[in-house]
Amino acid sequence: MPIQVLKPKFHVDECLEEIRECLEKGWTGLGFKTVEFEEQWKKYTGHKNAYYLNSNTVGLYMAVQILKMQNGWNDGDEIISTPITFISTNHAIKKQNMVARFADVDEYLCLDPVDVEKKINNKTRAVIFVGYGGRVGQLDKIIEICRKHNLKLILDAAHMSGTRVNGICPGTWDGIDVTVYSYQAVKNLPTADSGMICFAEDKYDKIARELGWLGINKDTYARTGDKGTYKWKYDVEYVGQKDHGNSIMAAIALVQLKYLDEDNAYRRELARCYDKLFANNPKIRVVDAPYKDECSYHIYEIQVDDRDGLMDALAANDIYAGVHYRDNTEYEMYAYDHGTCPNAHCVSQKIITMPLHLWLTKADVEEIAHLVNKFTK
Ligand SMILES: *Cc1c(COP(=O)(O)O)cnc(C)c1O
Repeated sequence: MPIQVLKPKFHVDECLEEIRECLEKGWTGLGFKTVEFEEQWKKYTGHKNAYYLNSNTVGLYMAVQILKMQNGWNDGDEIISTPITFISTNHAIKKQNMVARFADVDEYLCLDPVDVEKKINNKTRAVIFVGYGGRVGQLDKIIEICRKHNLKLILDAAHMSGTRVNGICPGTWDGIDVTVYSYQAVKNLPTADSGMICFAEDKYDKIARELGWLGINKDTYARTGDKGTYKWKYDVEYVGQKDHGNSIMAAIALVQLKYLDEDNAYRRELARCYDKLFANNPKIRVVDAPYKDECSYHIYEIQVDDRDGLMDALAANDIYAGVHYRDNTEYEMYAYDHGTCPNAHCVSQKIITMPLHLWLTKADVEEIAHLVNKFTK
């Protein structure tokens, strides 16, 4: 059996049972399970607001859209972001006719507060911080900087489902305006595709709920009474999108959420195995995580000099490592900032994501680490 870098594991029978409930009730869309999952997610994380979406991407788009609209930002204004991320993060800025201004990353591959502060100018309106690999990095310092310079802060928490710091979900920290999670197929809480947007302020949550359903001010579920009666009249306040999640995805999410802490604990065990097996190899630099014991470990990355050679050597043994991610300033549309983030650029050429998921055994990890050590010697 080939070993993939990421592979979801579902509690199949329980998921099917939850989905069956939707099919029997005849309610597969917005409402019902989506409402139930929003409530469960709020309980699990401590977020005050949670609106279930069809992806993290639409959530990031909406986060910038709403903050721009509500704070009077202009086209051409800037948001500071990281070059080491999935392009959703930076497209969210560009989509609203704003400019992503790239800042460099630290040893956790998260935004480096020192460089962030250097990149602030009179057009800067916000920062998007990616909790890369589930790591919280120096988010606390970024919050301070945003306070000091009166900037909004968006947290792309696509990797952070289940990450805590001293028992608290960092997405709920004071000073973060909006946190967006992903439940895409290979994330820590997998569905097929869905996500959650959690605004700190109630008024933004309300706008999100309207924008995410074409701008209609009352959703179908809310308009359906206890007796199945249906109030058809509504108003339309915005030219919105169709971003909301559905009950089939939420049914899967409800089941997977029950196992998230257990799943993440196993990911951490595997990560500790890798740590130990790489500890005596000076040719390998493991990307370190702060608050290791509470990190979601969405991915486990190492840096090696001959990254591409190592990928080939592993593939020859039917082991498929990955790369997360290519320096975004290498893409033409973001090339205007190429060369401004030397650390990110260097890292993106050396970084390799080791297989880490719930199908792996410790013996698998030992085999993989053995091959990596042999290759790098
Ligand atoms: C996966 C991912 C996204 C996008 O999530 P979707 O739910 O697939 O839209 C955004 N940012 C990062 C860092 C990601 O890894």
